[in-house]
Amino acid sequence: MRKPIIAGNWKMNGSRSSIKDLLDGIKAGMGDVKSAEVAICAPAIYLADVSAQLTGSKVAWGGQNLSTEASGAFTGEISADMLLDFKSEYVIVGHSERRTLYGETDELVAEKFEVARKAGLKPILCIGESLEERESGVTNEVCGRQINAVIERSGVKALAEGVIAYEPIWAIGTGKTATPEMAQETHAAIRQFIAEKDAAVAEKVRIQYGGSMNAANAADLLAMEDIDGGLIGGASLKAEDFLAICKAAG
Ligand code: PEP
Repeated sequence: MRKPIIAGNWKMNGSRSSIKDLLDGIKAGMGDVKSAEVAICAPAIYLADVSAQLTGSKVAWGGQNLSTEASGAFTGEISADMLLDFKSEYVIVGHSERRTLYGETDELVAEKFEVARKAGLKPILCIGESLEERESGVTNEVCGRQINAVIERSGVKALAEGVIAYEPIWAIGTGKTATPEMAQETHAAIRQFIAEKDAAVAEKVRIQYGGSMNAANAADLLAMEDIDGGLIGGASLKAEDFLAICKAAG
């Protein structure tokens, strides 16, 4: 039985004061979240505040990106050890915004996955197709190619040390959600793709859905057999909405 995981991706949002209020609200409602694992992926500059506020709570935290380098002359970058210095447990790798806006390739994302995992972070590997790719019927090929880059670099067993987030790009931040059936179909195809290489890893690895998941649609999405949680953007910025999703996960 896979434990559901709900992770908030705050992206480049918030301030010290709004984050304090948001985390106070989330912590106050966590008593009603029975079994789901909950995490927040915050802007790196706020990790000190986030770790101070969440230490001792049931909410884990982490970053939204990391460098493949350990240290040195890489202006503006954040290393795995820096994330760990603030007790991060998770880090998002390969978010579609990083892939499309910052040119991150499948190979670079696979390297980030490996660097994170080897440092002791749990990478949340984002994959997913564009609208054009969905309409051309190549969704499964795109997801397979993105996962395969990690398998080729680190081996299939490495996948079980992280989390996969299936995020159709056309559903991210658009208010257009994949229907539960549509999402389940792709999640099952992703699991099948992994099962062909290692059935035990496929059974174990958690696959989140991401793309306009909100308080109203979470329960139906999370009820699907192969959807093991959610990566939540917009709805993670309001305590009430985020908690409703966490509660829907169990
Ligand atoms: C995301 O950024 O990963 C995401 C799923 O965003 P949203 O929930 O806003 O679509």
